[in-house]
Amino acid sequence: MKVNCLICKICKYEYEVSPKYVCEMCFGPLEVKYNWEYIRKNISIEKISKGPKSIWRYIDLLPLESDYEIDLQSGFTPLVRAKNLGEYLGLDNLWIKNDSLNPTFSFKDRVVSIASNKAKEFGLTTLACASTGNLAGSVAAHGAKGGLETVVFIPKNLEKEKIISAGVYNPKIVTIDGTYDDVNRICTILAEEKEGWAFANINMRPFYSEGSKTLGYEIVEQLGWEAPDNIICPGGSGSLFTKVWKGISEFEKLGFIKNTNTKMHIAQAEGCSPIINAIDNNSDFIEPVIPETIAKSIAIGNPADGLNSVNLVNKTNGTGTSVSENEIIQGIRLLAETEGIFTETAGGVVIASLIKLSRQNKLPSDEKTVCLITGNGLKTPDVVSNIKTFDIDSKSSNLDEILSKV
Ligand SMILES: *Cc1c(COP(=O)(O)O)cnc(C)c1O
Ligand SMILES: [Zn+2]
Repeated sequence: MKVNCLICKICKYEYEVSPKYVCEMCFGPLEVKYNWEYIRKNISIEKISKGPKSIWRYIDLLPLESDYEIDLQSGFTPLVRAKNLGEYLGLDNLWIKNDSLNPTFSFKDRVVSIASNKAKEFGLTTLACASTGNLAGSVAAHGAKGGLETVVFIPKNLEKEKIISAGVYNPKIVTIDGTYDDVNRICTILAEEKEGWAFANINMRPFYSEGSKTLGYEIVEQLGWEAPDNIICPGGSGSLFTKVWKGISEFEKLGFIKNTNTKMHIAQAEGCSPIINAIDNNSDFIEPVIPETIAKSIAIGNPADGLNSVNLVNKTNGTGTSVSENEIIQGIRLLAETEGIFTETAGGVVIASLIKLSRQNKLPSDEKTVCLITGNGLKTPDVVSNIKTFDIDSKSSNLDEILSKV
């Protein structure tokens, strides 16, 4: 068995592997404890390199015991050299990890790949989630493919495109007229009540969150088995941020790469920046906020991994940056205009943060910097919808007039 048990992050009490996420002793979060002796025997760079071009090339490091049944081919997204954007900012070694090219157009396919298959292993029959948008789409798609009942809970004011991107797979969609934090609170109560339900990001969270490690693994592998100097990552709950680093440090522990000195930089929108506030104030607790931002996919006012994210920033000499609504839109436009990549608002937050950090000289030009683009622009098109067009009348026979338009 790859996984020994679940272990409380705080008091280290151990639990049998089950759909459980909170410690009965101290209410701390549970995480997966691997059997590293077993894993080491089964894994090598050669074996990974020959694996499928998806997250399943890292199956030996993921918390599934059986073979995966539900497969939408998540992961192994392109890591592209951002030469144009780098030139614009004076950075010689800039890279974009384009995770908007996943099956449902966000990085959430990585985590749901694990949660949905683990739900199958546990014999659970309903796949559910509390979502800021992208998770709902991924859960609905994996539920459809896996023949699971699917119920997604979302804030009522979500972008129309995100509701459609989930709705097309025909899940039950439940809206709540509040913030994501309200949705999460209600789902946490439901997770206790509903037998046979796998809430991807609640009772399945110890397994689900491990899916994000694959983003760290891929960056290292795609850079030729080398860790970057800087990673800039959007922060919602903070889970992705902490797990990307966990992935890199596991490769170090396995001896696949030398000592890593990757600085972890987290980016949030000013309208929802509880993690950045804690970093700026040197605080050892997260003060919850009420989100108000166009970056809805990362609008989490009370982030579960907020404090872990603050600690990771400090431990790796990283930074935390918050950016304005206008800067988010400028970030989306700049990435599109320089690199031909259309990202949603969370990606705009990352690019805006990149711009700020480079202007503050916090990113040495020769250092390898990787920006995580976690979602697709067609999920939030309204923020860039004022597009100028030049219109020609189809009945026009006036060549001069037509030529004046082109
Ligand atoms: C969910 C999400 C995030 C943040 O993930 P957390 O693990 O909650 O921090 C970032 N970007 C996009 C596009 C997302 O959908
Ligand atoms: Zn505990």
